[in-house]
Amino acid sequence: MPAEDAAIARIPAERRPQSADGSIPRVGHLIEPASSGRAKCRGCGRAVAKGELRLGEVMANPFSDEEGAERSVWFHLDCGAYKRPEVLLAALEGHPEPIEGRAELEQAARFGLEHRRLPRLDGAERASSARAKCRHCKETIDKDAWRLRIVYFEEGMVSPGGFIHATCSKPYFETTDIMERVRHFSPDLAASDLAEIGRTLGAG
Ligand SMILES: [Zn+2]
Ligand SMILES: [Zn+2]
Repeated sequence: MPAEDAAIARIPAERRPQSADGSIPRVGHLIEPASSGRAKCRGCGRAVAKGELRLGEVMANPFSDEEGAERSVWFHLDCGAYKRPEVLLAALEGHPEPIEGRAELEQAARFGLEHRRLPRLDGAERASSARAKCRHCKETIDKDAWRLRIVYFEEGMVSPGGFIHATCSKPYFETTDIMERVRHFSPDLAASDLAEIGRTLGAG
C-alpha cells in the first residue's frame, strides 16, 4: 500500500449513511469532520485541517482480503465539488445538516456534471518546454504559452492526463467559465497571470 494511503481509514458501518429503508448501502460517500490533520486531499494535494468538513469517497478496498472491505479517499469539500461532482452530490444528499456554502458547492458540482470534462481540470501553468502536445487539438503547445493541466481519477488514484492549450478551453470543456477552478488549483499564480489567462481563454 502506498505510504499516502496510511491515512485512509475504513468507515465503521454505523457511520455510513443509511438509505430510506434502513439498509446500509455498500458504497456510501460521506461528509464528516476530519478526525486528524494527516489525510491529504486527492483534489489539491494539501492536507485537510483537523475538524474541517471533508468529503470521503468510499470504494472497495483491493488491498484487503476481508470480504466487502472498503476504503475511502478524502477531499476538501470545494475540491470534491470541482473534481468529484457526482460523489459530492451523493454525499450532500446523505448529509442534511447545515454546511457552509452548500448552495455554492452544489452549483459547482452541477456545472461539472453539465461539462463532463471539466472535473479533469487541475489548474494552469506556463509551458516549461515545447514538448507537450495539446490533448484537444493535437498541436504542440509552445514554450511559455498558457496551458491547462488535465488529471484523471480511477479507483481513488489520480493520474496525469497531459495538457490542453488555454485557448482550447472552449472546445474541450465546452465552457470558458473556468477561472474560479484555475485560481483554486493554481493558488500561486499572480493576479496578472490570472488576468492574462482569462484573456487567453476568451481568445480561443
Ligand atoms: Zn483539496
Ligand atoms: Zn489545443
